[in-house]
Amino acid sequence: MSKPLAEIPVTSLRGVGPSLAGKLLKLGIYSVEDVLFHLPLRYQDRTRITPIGAIQTDADIVVEGTIKLADIAFGKRRSLVIRMQDGTGTVTLRFFYFSSHQKNNLKPGVKLRCFGQARRGSSGLEFYHPEYELIEDDDVPLNKHLTAIYPTTEGVGQKQWRNLCSQAIKQLQDRPPADLIGNYLQSDFDLVSALHYLHNPPADAQLELLSAGKHPAQIRLIVEELAAHRLAGEHLRQLQKNNHAPLVPVAPKLLEEFSRTLAFTPTDAQSRVVSEICAELSQTQPMMRLVQGDVGSGKTLVAAMATLQVVSAGFQVAFMAPTELLAEQHLASFQLWFKDLPVNVGWLSGRTKGKARERILSEIAENQIQLLIGTHAIFQEKVSFKSLGMVIVDEQHRFGVQQRLSLNEKANGGYKPHQLVMTATPIPRSLFMVAYANFDCSIIDELPPGRKPVSTVLIDSARRDQVASRVKDACESGKQAYWVCTQITEDEESDLQAAEATFKTLHEALPELTVGLVHGKMKPSDKLTAMHAFKAGEIDVLVATTVIEVGVDVPNASIMVIENPERLGLAQLHQLRGRVGRGPEESYCVLLFKHPLSSNSHARLRVIRDSNDGFHIAEQDFKLRGPGVVHGTKQVGYTSFKVASFPEHEYLLSCAESVAESIQSFSPDTTRTIIERWCDLDTGYADV
Ligand code: ADP
Ligand code: MG
Repeated sequence: MSKPLAEIPVTSLRGVGPSLAGKLLKLGIYSVEDVLFHLPLRYQDRTRITPIGAIQTDADIVVEGTIKLADIAFGKRRSLVIRMQDGTGTVTLRFFYFSSHQKNNLKPGVKLRCFGQARRGSSGLEFYHPEYELIEDDDVPLNKHLTAIYPTTEGVGQKQWRNLCSQAIKQLQDRPPADLIGNYLQSDFDLVSALHYLHNPPADAQLELLSAGKHPAQIRLIVEELAAHRLAGEHLRQLQKNNHAPLVPVAPKLLEEFSRTLAFTPTDAQSRVVSEICAELSQTQPMMRLVQGDVGSGKTLVAAMATLQVVSAGFQVAFMAPTELLAEQHLASFQLWFKDLPVNVGWLSGRTKGKARERILSEIAENQIQLLIGTHAIFQEKVSFKSLGMVIVDEQHRFGVQQRLSLNEKANGGYKPHQLVMTATPIPRSLFMVAYANFDCSIIDELPPGRKPVSTVLIDSARRDQVASRVKDACESGKQAYWVCTQITEDEESDLQAAEATFKTLHEALPELTVGLVHGKMKPSDKLTAMHAFKAGEIDVLVATTVIEVGVDVPNASIMVIENPERLGLAQLHQLRGRVGRGPEESYCVLLFKHPLSSNSHARLRVIRDSNDGFHIAEQDFKLRGPGVVHGTKQVGYTSFKVASFPEHEYLLSCAESVAESIQSFSPDTTRTIIERWCDLDTGYADV
């Protein structure tokens, strides 16, 4: 029998040399089967011609006509302008960049077919830089299929994808990949016909369904993909059971004593989650637990109590935060909380260099440091622990799978460390079962007492001066404020420029106040100095970029102004706003939006204004993204999906769940194949 496509390397296809193979490898594509499962992101309809008189703006269309006029226009920018007619109307094609060859070809009387999106321009409907071809003989055929647009990486063009996929499709009939879920799912499509259809949809395919990811051929594959991830999680759980983790006895007395030294009492939710964690630490299999808790729910304290138990059993803990700012803040909290306890807390960041670095590395290796806090620097090869018992990862969405796994490798003596992952990003239960199938979950569903919800208002940025003067009054009565500048354009520098400009204007407008600045491009030491000064109350108004988004804790800051909030996702706004409302003061958040707001933006900002509940906000965020955004997120937690995306495919999770169960019960021998087909084993599944 001939080899299955999963075993035929992609290099067997025409046009795939070492260079292209290398690029494909980066996308996880090794075999011809992988090419087949690299599915189009969207489609274009080049199968029919739209009469010029019937053009709708902002849709990809083909038009055909005869050139009536070709001219160079000198406006703000020189452009080649072509007027084209087809008997139903006239349309303009405009080229800001053009060669003399192009200019010579595009002459009155010439017949053209173009593809692109029309917009309303200075001379009515215009196409800017459309793709076009000259039509010399009247019979140039149109495409018979919708045109697939593939997700890609630098240096691999759409033509190359089409070439690869059409070669792979040709092999599909002769060596069809096994249809692994056909028995368990009602569908008009089997695996082969679904792949065929999606790489080459017929001209009459329903483009809207395809664009929304709701076509039955897509659903056939999505269910299989979700089931595969569910099975992969199960498989991982089994593997984990074979691993040994350090046994950490439950130490209720220790934790009780520790609680008594705190300035506050842990909430019931914190205590419950701590006991869930501690019970699991006392097992000899590694804990894999995700702690979800809204912004400000006190996840750090939960981590501290778990740490205490591990350290008191003689093992080390590594605590990793996504930014230096946040890691430093955790360091300060732990140093304060553990100051009278025999716990040596160490610090390691990318900036720890030379002698200091050597010393800390040797202390880690000798178990003189029981708790190491830092950034991803603590993943590095050179860091070797004497007896690592637990890894804590804060705000996990900021870390990649590889980073997390490399820390997992650091345990020794045949042990795998326990893992505690903390996040403020809520995730629906059904999705959790797929994206984190090998994790257990604890939820801190309560905020510390006395938290007042942050009052949030929407204010037009035209009234910025009034806002500044309100901030001034508040600061003069002893309060502190954040003034957050967000990205105005896509370009990276602008965030920074906006922050610097705002810093300057506020500094001039509010001479009575001390205004500080913190942004991502600052030297880390300057960043920390600014944060310390703010925390110590030496700065009244801290102008910042979104570097302060995650975790920063300055309880006396009770006002936050956010510029261009419409540019940010709701989850991010909620995170940012979580920097205030941490102290006893009434807190305010001003969303300083730019007029005019689209109705969707307005609806989104209203969600933030009206709710302080992270779960509710996340749900509304999903809803409001709506069909306007074709594809939601393909990355959830550590898992990335090829065809499924969220939230739009959440409704398929229960179906996938039962398909996964059926496979487990009735065809367990296909589990490995389905997992390998859909899940990238190299990024986390291979070795846990
Ligand atoms: P997050 O869950 O967002 O990471 P943090 O751990 O930063 O929250 O905690 C937010 C603030 O609440 C910190 O100042 C912390 O010291 C404080 N805190 C934590 N637990 C309690 C509690 N039980 N009562 C009062 N304050 C608490
Ligand atoms: Mg936190």
